[in-house]
Amino acid sequence: MSAPNKSFDPKQVSALSSESVDEMVVEAIAALSSASDLESLKVARLTHFGDRSSISLANREIGALPPAAKAEVGKRIGEAKARIKDALESREAELTQIRDNEVLLSEKVDVSVPVDRLKRGARHPLTTLMERLCDVFIAMGYEIAEGPELELEWANFDALNFPKDHPARLMQDTFFVESPDSGVVLRTHTSPIQVRAMLERELPIYVVAPGRVFRTDELDATHTPVFHQIEGLAVDKGLSMADLRGTLNHLAHVMFGPQIDIRWRPSFFPFTEPSAEVDLKCFVCLGDSSAVDCRACGGEGWIEWGGCGMVNPKVLRAVGIDADVYSGFAFGMGIERTLMFRSGVSDMREMVEGDIRFTGAFGLEA
Ligand SMILES: [Zn+2]
Repeated sequence: MSAPNKSFDPKQVSALSSESVDEMVVEAIAALSSASDLESLKVARLTHFGDRSSISLANREIGALPPAAKAEVGKRIGEAKARIKDALESREAELTQIRDNEVLLSEKVDVSVPVDRLKRGARHPLTTLMERLCDVFIAMGYEIAEGPELELEWANFDALNFPKDHPARLMQDTFFVESPDSGVVLRTHTSPIQVRAMLERELPIYVVAPGRVFRTDELDATHTPVFHQIEGLAVDKGLSMADLRGTLNHLAHVMFGPQIDIRWRPSFFPFTEPSAEVDLKCFVCLGDSSAVDCRACGGEGWIEWGGCGMVNPKVLRAVGIDADVYSGFAFGMGIERTLMFRSGVSDMREMVEGDIRFTGAFGLEA
């Protein structure tokens, strides 16, 4: 048996020679430095610093060396590994920095670039105005009543005391459904809701009925075949014209301001007796008689707003209410007309054409 080879010269083991270790280091550093991104650096690391790399394989050879040689070779390999590790870490830091910069650039948000903003929707000014009017009445204890837009001719005319041959049936230019004999019309006013309320509700009745109505008008600056009304009805014991007057005055003050009073002019409606036209004091000239050129009222000092009156006892009887015990008042006004006064809209077509430049001016009231 031979003794351990104490005179072993590590230089004779070529893989561990100083030259070949230096060569490994140079190769490894060259490969790591030339890696262009973290992916290729990973490949270079496995090749030159992984378990099967030349330097790792050389490291394993140390164990087979005679003890005298181990220290020197171990130091050499250790230093080589440290140099490769340094090169790896510094290249990794560089490439990570480059990668991070690229991510920052590619994910950069330019806050100055204009974007297509989604406009917030809003309801039509007619809708919001109608709700405000309703709110005034709800605050006075009224309830909201509704009825069908396709209405019985009986509720639209007969129950409201329009005789069969009454000119109002033609005057109002009614849309009859199918044939004039069908007995069904597109309601020409919100008044049939009064009829339905009186038939369906317990007394006393305090209702307000907003809604869409139809007449065969051509669309122009002051007419539209589809428009909106709000109608009020009160039926109770002991109601008088004074109650009606106070109610409408309150409505005018809330909607237009405390200085805007109403006035009445005698009129005729089949379903009220007595009846009156309701005028609003002109909110531009405030009824100043010297303002003959006022554009809003034409120097009149007053603006037509709606109609009203005490419910005709014939109407009460038609729906089975004892007209000797109960009395009622009713009133109605056009919503479009109210919006025209309130917001200075001069052309009714703007309200139906759906141009958001018009509706947007009323704000985004939801
Ligand atoms: Zn005026």
